[in-house]
Amino acid sequence: MDFYERYLQSLPRLRKAGYAFVGNRKHSAVKVCLWARRALCGKGSCYKQKFYGIKSHRCLQMTPAMPSCNQRCLFCWRDTSLFSEAWPLDGADEPSEIIDGAVAAQRLLLIGFKGNASADRQKWLEAQEPNQAAISLDGEPTMYPKLAELIREFHRRGFTTFLVTNGTRPEALRHLAAEDALPTQLYVSLCAPDEETYEKTNLPVGDDNWTKLNETLMLLPSLATRKVLRLTLVKGLNFHSPERYAKLVKVSGVDYVECKSYMNVGFSTQRLTQAHMPSHDEIRAFAAELAGNAGYEFTDEQVESRVVLLSRDAEAARNRFITRV
Ligand code: SF4
Repeated sequence: MDFYERYLQSLPRLRKAGYAFVGNRKHSAVKVCLWARRALCGKGSCYKQKFYGIKSHRCLQMTPAMPSCNQRCLFCWRDTSLFSEAWPLDGADEPSEIIDGAVAAQRLLLIGFKGNASADRQKWLEAQEPNQAAISLDGEPTMYPKLAELIREFHRRGFTTFLVTNGTRPEALRHLAAEDALPTQLYVSLCAPDEETYEKTNLPVGDDNWTKLNETLMLLPSLATRKVLRLTLVKGLNFHSPERYAKLVKVSGVDYVECKSYMNVGFSTQRLTQAHMPSHDEIRAFAAELAGNAGYEFTDEQVESRVVLLSRDAEAARNRFITRV
């Protein structure tokens, strides 16, 4: 059985876990995140709403590259055994097909809230028209060959976009810039302060991923969009050397840094335990040391998600809320 066939066989199991697959080839998926559900019932919102002002209940969490990634991060909450290190198909679905399918799937996934007495009716109506795409759900999205067209199509439809990449494909980011298709906010995951930690934490599949990640950090200052480094921190693995992370942060010159505790959820529970999760106080202390070394400033935090936001300077802190055109 080839790789893609094995992936297709896993879809029924993934559907039970809340994924909806869209497009003819089924390499794209949507999943309603816990925070969107909570927001609909007035029970809090995602830290990205607090940090950047996007609305959790209007966020479309999706991926166009479910079966592909060139890392096998120990903290990944997905089933990394399903990842192909390269794009596993001959072709790829069209962006408009994916977005149409993703919005329709999101509406279906939320249908249960329609008659739910604890759901806010106005928010439920708004949720029918998502206006923020989190291109991050699963896999490495830069492997989808039509990512530039997908981002442009989201923007054409009035969405803001957050793209999360593992940073090992700088050529894909150069391509987005050349195609005038950079996301509203670009996230790069930085989960190691040095190569040895990177190898242990991210289990790269390619040979030169660490070099490529560093190339991406050097590329970031030239990319004309909002940029964030996200550090997912795991005790006993990559939760050390804030001063060395700070050096990499300075190279990247990003607007924001999110220092976030690993959460023991999903498939990662088969590789790590709750003891690997730093407490919020530990994250705060780590972030303070990183900020001091990098010249960044503490801006905000959300205790429940164990995450701290740092900004490059006062201007970045002031401009953190995304305004819609
Ligand atoms: S890069 Fe992202 S999708 Fe790939 S293994 Fe790591 S956490 Fe999972």
